[in-house]
Amino acid sequence: MSTYQALWVTETPQFQQSVVERSMDDLPEGEVLIRVRYSSLNYKDALSATGNRGVTRTFPHTPGIDAAGVVEHSSVAELAAGDEVIVTGYDLGMNTYGGMAQYIRVPAAWVIKRPAGLSLRESMILGTAGLTAALCVDKLLRAGLTAEAGSVLVTGATGGVGSIAIVLLKHLGFHVTAVTGKAEQAEFLRQLGAQVVIGREELTAGTDKALLKPQWAGVVDTVGGDILFNAVKSLQYGGSAACCGLTAGIDFKASVLPFILRGVNLLGVDSVELPLVNKASMWDKLSLQWKLDLESLVKEISLKDVPNAIATMLASQQTGRTLVRID
Ligand code: NDP
Repeated sequence: MSTYQALWVTETPQFQQSVVERSMDDLPEGEVLIRVRYSSLNYKDALSATGNRGVTRTFPHTPGIDAAGVVEHSSVAELAAGDEVIVTGYDLGMNTYGGMAQYIRVPAAWVIKRPAGLSLRESMILGTAGLTAALCVDKLLRAGLTAEAGSVLVTGATGGVGSIAIVLLKHLGFHVTAVTGKAEQAEFLRQLGAQVVIGREELTAGTDKALLKPQWAGVVDTVGGDILFNAVKSLQYGGSAACCGLTAGIDFKASVLPFILRGVNLLGVDSVELPLVNKASMWDKLSLQWKLDLESLVKEISLKDVPNAIATMLASQQTGRTLVRID
């Protein structure tokens, strides 16, 4: 039996940092034991940490859908003790104890070796949010988006996925319009790379209309609901919207008109169950051609600060990324 520090969510829901006693011996075939160095805070962690049964059904529970660290024991030939690795998504932090702990034990099939161009810290500044932002942009590019076509709208702009999407789009030479509920963060969004910042209310007006003035060459949508509906109705002819999030709601009213009159595309993005080979190739891209400087949007905290950071996120007050250092 071994003991280690972890964030521990009881069923109440109530969360605390405590010493967890859990067997680390007898690593099953196909699993690896990782000493976690960094995790990061994602919206799904905030839901799971407050007892949301739509996200996890296992309590007590350790949140953290992201982890980066060093392999301590491995039962597979492809990974050895000392390897630096990244794990995001799949069941990590859901019904498997997550990355907000000194140790995780996961199937080797979830593990990616750290690409040479990224440190463990940089990988978790990106985390699931960065991977998702990159997948959204990648899908838009594959659907034909070009920088010359016009502005790309990013919703939930101050959040983790939104803020990284802005930096990546700027890196690729796009004109970006950021939509936010936080007027006071307009300067932050401009510094990240948004040329235009608009209020959320502009994207919720006109929901009764079948089509709106064509404005966007592409959309990275992290919020869903009426905002996504209106963004799709405002796409230019042939434009595409990548849809990955639900902070404004899971319901999405739609009409076929933008699709059949303007030939627009709605592209679904999932970074959780994506096959490992695709995740690895996106991590490689983020370590090379799409390597971003994200220091201006990250806040680094330790395990004891996570409960407060979760409260901030659930109050829609998140700006940028929260990196969790695991001492
Ligand atoms: P954050 O909490 O960091 O950001 C969410 C942002 O959404 C907020 O900062 C806010 O930005 C905006 N927002 C919050 N509440 C509302 C609301 N009621 N109406 C409209 N906008 C709102 O979350 P993440 O960036 O980590 O995740 C964003 C979304 O993407 C989540 O729904 C998450 O579950 C999803 N996601 C999906 C993945 C996938 O694989 N499909 C992977 C990762 C995330 P602002 O104030 O600037 O408008």
